[in-house]
Amino acid sequence: MRAMVLEKPALRLQLRDVPKPKPGRGQLLVRVSTCAVCRTDLHVVDGELPNPKLSLILGHQIVGRVEEIGEETWQGPQRPDGPGTKAAPTFQIGDRVGVPWLGWTDGDCVYCRSNRENLCDNARFTGYTIDGGYAEYTVADARFCFHLPERYDDVAVAPLLCAGLIGYRSYRKAGHARRLGLYGFGNAAHLTGQIALYEGRDLFVFTRPGDAKTQQSAKALGAKWASGSDEMPPEKLDAAIIFASVGPLVPRALRALAKGGIVVCGGIHMSDIPSFPYGDLWEERVITSVANLTRGDGEEFFDIAPRVPVQTKTETFPLEEANAAIDQFRAAKLSATAVLTISK
Ligand SMILES: [Zn+2]
Ligand SMILES: [Zn+2]
Repeated sequence: MRAMVLEKPALRLQLRDVPKPKPGRGQLLVRVSTCAVCRTDLHVVDGELPNPKLSLILGHQIVGRVEEIGEETWQGPQRPDGPGTKAAPTFQIGDRVGVPWLGWTDGDCVYCRSNRENLCDNARFTGYTIDGGYAEYTVADARFCFHLPERYDDVAVAPLLCAGLIGYRSYRKAGHARRLGLYGFGNAAHLTGQIALYEGRDLFVFTRPGDAKTQQSAKALGAKWASGSDEMPPEKLDAAIIFASVGPLVPRALRALAKGGIVVCGGIHMSDIPSFPYGDLWEERVITSVANLTRGDGEEFFDIAPRVPVQTKTETFPLEEANAAIDQFRAAKLSATAVLTISK
């Protein structure tokens, strides 16, 4: 099969002909239709995340069809060991399937046993520590795959699998904030903002200083206010989510908070955070981060997304042009989420 392979960080992806994977116990063989590019892919390519599998097939926003089902994969109506109280999804050959970042957990560590599988000590991640979707086929543990809402086609739904999901988890961490700030207005913020507006929140969007075009698109979406991240909002915020991987935004966002407010850092990687006076944190302000996702997050998000309905903006690239997609993403030349189109 054709695959775009990362031999080691800082190198270009190479188009290779590699063996088609075989589904093992509990796994699905997925014929990949589309795979959206995430900022995390850039961090892996740039060597900013430790110990990736090498060589590696990137990609963790995978949409495809089940082509083969490994032995001992549950095919009955409802598997009893799903997240929380819900049963895990089951799949038949030909089903459309979404494969996200969280690829496997041990189900047994203190985090898994306390409904925090996103923090599993032994978790494996799609397109990072296991091969992902920049290829014609991938294998995935059926228990971590999602059925996807019918209203989206394969291109439109792909960005929901990480930007949407991580954005949603960040948004839920922000609690019931009436006045919500978003620092950075890329893919995740654009999707999260739509849910926040749907739920009646007032949205305040911070962009790179002087980026009038992005501020305009935030206002067009329905933001109450949009300006540079060097400015203070007209009202104190109940919560702020930082989607940009820029550490100095953390103390700035903290200063924009009302008492008891929370700053949620939504990225997997961020530059260092400068020091700030304790007075800025006083009065029960909180700084937290969001790591990975749980299957429960996915179920909730794919339930609410089509009701909003969350709209994605995409720009497609053939699989072979994955390097161009990554380059344009890094250079901030994309105005939409890059989605690799792999098969029909
Ligand atoms: Zn675990
Ligand atoms: Zn991602």
